[in-house]
Formats: sequence, structure tokens, C-alpha cells
Amino acid sequence: MNGPDEGIGGDAPQAIRKLAPGRLVIASHNAGKVREIRALLGPFGIEPVSAAELDLPEPDETGTTFVANAELKALQAADLSGLPALADDSGLCVDALGGDPGIFSARWAGESKDFGVAMRLIEDKMAALPPETGRDAHFICALALAWPDGHVEWFEGRVDGTLVWPPRGEHGFGYDPMFLPNGHAETFGEMDPEAKHAMSHRADAFNQLVAAVLD
Ligand code: IMP
Repeated sequence: MNGPDEGIGGDAPQAIRKLAPGRLVIASHNAGKVREIRALLGPFGIEPVSAAELDLPEPDETGTTFVANAELKALQAADLSGLPALADDSGLCVDALGGDPGIFSARWAGESKDFGVAMRLIEDKMAALPPETGRDAHFICALALAWPDGHVEWFEGRVDGTLVWPPRGEHGFGYDPMFLPNGHAETFGEMDPEAKHAMSHRADAFNQLVAAVLD
């Protein structure tokens, strides 16, 4: 997918900018995420450096979409470091709740980051709707790759499924135990982590990124 400023107004779409081998800032203070991204991009000659290693601040996520939040994090990190930077933003969207919790997925777990509470909140809201209400949901992962000159390429990955109750499985994190991907009998919480990683919204977004800017 091209960046949001491309192909507007009838102009020919600009070519997607390729990422040259070298250092890439991962605009995340989450050590697990940085490790995962290092493993994914290492084979392409990309050397990920974390925002924490460079002591970069974490901006407020003031965007109203996943892409906008990923973009503001990536642009700030690229601007401050003088290097290309990659950021992500992800969450769970429930159709019957108008897309909630969406970009507020982390916040629904509260200060204590208790996703048992967040899943219960979703289920309480679903229970207040008519019984025939559908339980479709999807995870989204937006990736934004920004350069110090302000250029951005972004990609949005998605996986569709339905919500189960009660939550099932001990694997994964966040809303995984409540999410049953379409065509499967196990929730993301029950599945072997490798199986989840192969079909997740994050895998979808990274596959798009690799095909567009690295291949
Ligand atoms: P962020 O992208 O780090 O801001 O995280 C967004 C939130 O979305 C996480 O805290 C989780 O609650 C939720 N989320 C994102 N991806 C997943 C996933 O793969 N499984 C379960 N929950 C997820």
C-alpha cells in the first residue's frame, strides 16, 4: 500500500521508496517487539536500533487511526535520529461496537494492564446488545516507515475472526484468548505461537512491507 499522500488528485502514484541496508530505528520501547523485528529484518541487511537505545522520547498517540499513530511515532523518531524509522500501532476492532476498542485497545486494560478486565469489558458491552448481534472482529496492525526528510510509506495488515466467551488458552497476549480466527478451531490464545505469527495482522503488515520496500 502506498503512503497516504500518494496518488491523490489524479497524479500518477509515486514509486515506493526502498529501504537501503543499514541502521533502522525501531520506534518502540517494547523490548519484545524490537527483538521480533530484528529477527525479521536481519536477513535483509537491516540493523535495527531501538528508540530506547537512542534515548528517544515516546510521543503521545494523538492520532485517530492506527496509521496516523504509527506515522507520528515513526516521523518523530526519524526526525530526532536522522535515520529511517519504523513504528507500529495495533489493536482489536469489534464490528458490533463500532470498531472499539480499536486504537484504545491497550487503554481498555487500565493502569494495571489487565486484559482479563479488558476482555470482560468487551463481553459486557456485547451482552447489552440484542442476542442476535454478530460477533465479528478483526485485529489491525499498521506499520509506518519514515525517513528524516518526512517521506513515509505505510502498510496495514489485518486478520478476521469472531469473539468467543469465555476466553480460551494461555498463549499469546492481550485479547488473544477471546479471538477465534476465521477457518480455525483454536483461539489465538490456544494456538501454537508459531501458527499465530504466520497468520496474524502483524505478519500480514510485515509481508507487505518486505515485498514493497526490501525485495
Ligand atoms: P500497541 O500497538 O503496542 O499500542 O498495542 C495495542 C494493543 O492492542 C495491545 O496492548 C493489545 O491489547 C492489542 N493487540 C495488538 N495486537 C494483538 C495481538 O496480536 N493479540 C492480542 N492483542 C493484541
